[in-house]
Amino acid sequence: MSSSRAASTVLLLASLAAPAVAGSAPIAIDVDLREAPRSLVHAKLVIPASPGPLTLVYPQWIPGEHGPSGPIRDLAGVRFRAGGADLAWQRDPLDMYAFRLDVPAGADAVEASLDYLAPVVAANFTAGRSTTAALAVLSWNTVALYPQGASPEALSFAPSVTLPDGWRYGTALEGATESGSTVRFAPVSLVRLVDSPLVASANFTRVELPGSDRPHSIDVVADSPGALTLPPGFADAYARLVGEAGALFGARHYRHYDWLLTLSDNVEHFGLEHHESSDNRLGERTLLEEPWRKALASLLAHEYVHSWNGKYRRPAGLVRADYQQPFDTGLLWVYEGLTQYLRELLPARAGLWSDEYGRERLALIAANLEYQAGRRWRPLQDTAAAAQVLFGVPSYWRSWRRGADFYDESVLIWMEVDARLRAGSKGARSLDDFCHAFYGGAEHLDALEETGPEVRPYGFDDVVAALSGVGAGDWKALLEDRLSSKSEHAPLAGLEAAGWKLVFDDKPNAALADRQALDGGRDLSYSLGIDVDKEGTVRDVRVGSPADQAGVAPGAKLVAVDGLAWSGDRLGEAVAASAQRQVPIELLVRQGELFRTYRVDYHGGARYPHLVRTAGADLLTAMQAPRVRPATAGRRGGAAR
Ligand SMILES: [Zn+2]
Repeated sequence: MSSSRAASTVLLLASLAAPAVAGSAPIAIDVDLREAPRSLVHAKLVIPASPGPLTLVYPQWIPGEHGPSGPIRDLAGVRFRAGGADLAWQRDPLDMYAFRLDVPAGADAVEASLDYLAPVVAANFTAGRSTTAALAVLSWNTVALYPQGASPEALSFAPSVTLPDGWRYGTALEGATESGSTVRFAPVSLVRLVDSPLVASANFTRVELPGSDRPHSIDVVADSPGALTLPPGFADAYARLVGEAGALFGARHYRHYDWLLTLSDNVEHFGLEHHESSDNRLGERTLLEEPWRKALASLLAHEYVHSWNGKYRRPAGLVRADYQQPFDTGLLWVYEGLTQYLRELLPARAGLWSDEYGRERLALIAANLEYQAGRRWRPLQDTAAAAQVLFGVPSYWRSWRRGADFYDESVLIWMEVDARLRAGSKGARSLDDFCHAFYGGAEHLDALEETGPEVRPYGFDDVVAALSGVGAGDWKALLEDRLSSKSEHAPLAGLEAAGWKLVFDDKPNAALADRQALDGGRDLSYSLGIDVDKEGTVRDVRVGSPADQAGVAPGAKLVAVDGLAWSGDRLGEAVAASAQRQVPIELLVRQGELFRTYRVDYHGGARYPHLVRTAGADLLTAMQAPRVRPATAGRRGGAAR
């Protein structure tokens, strides 16, 4: 944990520099998506240059992905020309993202052409599957080169995209002019370009949200026309999310906001935040099925909050001079963690899910962390510092390794801060006041129109100072303790201070049931100690659990339960009946070439997490209460129903 107040000032000045180099021609970037349906994206760039050595770099450290995820291995057909002749090039042997060439005398520009081999296999985030036969998501960094050492904030790019016949598009880029199937956009800095992806498909609909002082829309592309069918009240429900976020933060730092939403079973499923838009990807039937719609509310709320927490206010270690500089991700427990906390509250406030469903989600988060054995060796702070190696880690021994826990564990920590602020002020102050002070500020739509979105970096001490401005408390000591703790127990003090406690019983958890409905798996983490996918493969074994003690290995495939062919239902029934039987549950598994029976000596019955009330004041319901709508009106209605 470090304070970076001095660094903040320098970076703040850098980020406020003029948005484009006056007098220098923009870099033209023309992207051809007509072969995107067969996983090929073509691009041509014209880069103003002077005679002499020139190094062009490909973006490596991608904002919001928190790591060096620029997909350089999928770049092919790279060719440079100047003055009508091909130029020789060499890769920098110490930097895979750098191409060295010499610009000949008399040339004033280099033409670069390249293909991006749009992935057909899974990979992390935008470096993964982003095109299908019916749609494409274009992340401009996947096709961009720029002169080494130049500031992406100061470089101007003039973008265009050519679409397959009949395709339409959504993007936060402005000033579009169309000519045939080619769309040209107004020049923007490289920062704005990388921050403004584009979705396109023949299956496209744009949902405008009513009732705000600036445009908000959800731009949907899908693998089939039927996937675009909106549930009743969809636009109004998300308009309430916009209203609740506005009431929470008090100011918006974007000119307009576009949720780009891709619905396909053949792309990666994740969200990536941008300042005036976000790239959100879920299954094809998201709008049609209830569990998916809840997942949508969660995803869209999370990415939207990032416009304030992550884009406008950003840890100084994530504000870099260009895309080649490593990130310091140590403050992701604020950037991602507080976003995750607000993701749990805002959908309840907007009526996208019920308070009770919100509690089931929180119970699942708390239980998962309570059963995270790796917390004995890896403190939360290390999960943030090591984010770049923890994203996308496989599921085996996850509870011992720990994953990107700075998301979910921070939910509990920010709830503790919130509960302390509320209790200490008898309900007069809350974490909402911190959000208003730290992420809000004055409305400045005019300035926004002129300069575009602004970045204000911060360090740990800035967070502590802002909390102290809202309510008395040793916030520094509290946060440092939670971040460095190696307690084997999850930090549940906030939940308890909010009037609720974590319990386990045999009733299914509603949020877990939704997750299992989506992926077909069986999560028996809190009973047997295994999480099984729909094929019967053991995704993980919880350290210290009955399955762990019996010797079951992650990756093993269940073949039979108590001598009968494996099925998810049979496994669930055996666990449910375990309290009434004296003998262990017998699991026949295949592990590689070996078949083996494990006797799991478990007799606790089905166990699922829930929250129940304690004697104290119910602060959690106050946290979930809408700020805009009357608490009595339609709390259970909306798009999620
Ligand atoms: Zn996030």
